[in-house]
Amino acid sequence: MAKNNTDQQASEECSHECTDCPSASTCAEAKSGGGLPPKANIDVKHVVLVLSGKGGVGKSTVSVNLAFALANHGYHVGLLDLDMHGPNIPKMLGIEDQKFAMMGNKIEPVHVTGTLSVVSIAFVLPDTSTPLIWRGPMKMVAIQQFLEDVNWGALDYIVVDLPPGTGDEALTIAQLAPNVKGAVIVTTPQDVATLDARKSVKFVEKLGLPVLGVIENMSGMVCPHCGTEIDLFGKGGGRKVAEELNVPFLGAIPIDIEMRKAGDEGRPFIIRRKDSSASWASVDAVMEALIKEVEG
Ligand code: ADP
Repeated sequence: MAKNNTDQQASEECSHECTDCPSASTCAEAKSGGGLPPKANIDVKHVVLVLSGKGGVGKSTVSVNLAFALANHGYHVGLLDLDMHGPNIPKMLGIEDQKFAMMGNKIEPVHVTGTLSVVSIAFVLPDTSTPLIWRGPMKMVAIQQFLEDVNWGALDYIVVDLPPGTGDEALTIAQLAPNVKGAVIVTTPQDVATLDARKSVKFVEKLGLPVLGVIENMSGMVCPHCGTEIDLFGKGGGRKVAEELNVPFLGAIPIDIEMRKAGDEGRPFIIRRKDSSASWASVDAVMEALIKEVEG
């Protein structure tokens, strides 16, 4: 059993099981057994978690664009959609009609390009409107299978899109995935979102993982008709959270109708270079800042 995230503290008396403990991934006692399943045996150099306190702030959008940005750098990338109750990654990549294939006793991920493959629960659901009605333990088993039973091959990165909040999926992946490099927190600028982003930062720190940075999405917008800048959700909230909690600020991305279209049309914004707009430049800059943080 484990209690806290340092070796010294781990030797103290604990009142709960390691499986319930947010520090279990780093606690010495948990690492030495402690009731946790072992780390998954997959060949990946870095696992990057994408988290948010709230839904709808652009977490999946960031995950998809980060995966493509990494692939553009020449890396072999896996994109793991763990937002099991709202798996939007396949839609955002235009692969929502795909299903898993089996190769022997392994699941074949869906290959988007030669260097980018995707795993999502959506690939086993009968259609896009069927909800997944599962309790935590079933999701934990599925996550284990998504790591162990998938023919990922040798990867440089796995980008993990998590559901909003600080629940089962995030705890499980932090415990089971090897080489977790850290987590990036996506937020919008308004107080009701940044309040929850603060919780996400503290959650990641409690897990003993590095916070790779905060991304402020939907940060202002330029009216496509008159060119006036409108602060729909405000501006600067994400930067403030990063500064106050002393974690890197990776940059701001404005609201852009083209980003919404990119998601709906299944074509990630970052590969639509022809747009070459100010928004495209900010998405590119944020992704590069994140990659620098991951590689630094
Ligand atoms: P989450 O994963 O946090 O629930 P999504 O990435 O699914 O959020 O984004 C929610 C919606 O907002 C999607 O329709 C997406 O295309 C859109 N969206 C995300 N970021 C932007 C942006 N900067 N400008 C315009 N639309 C955006």
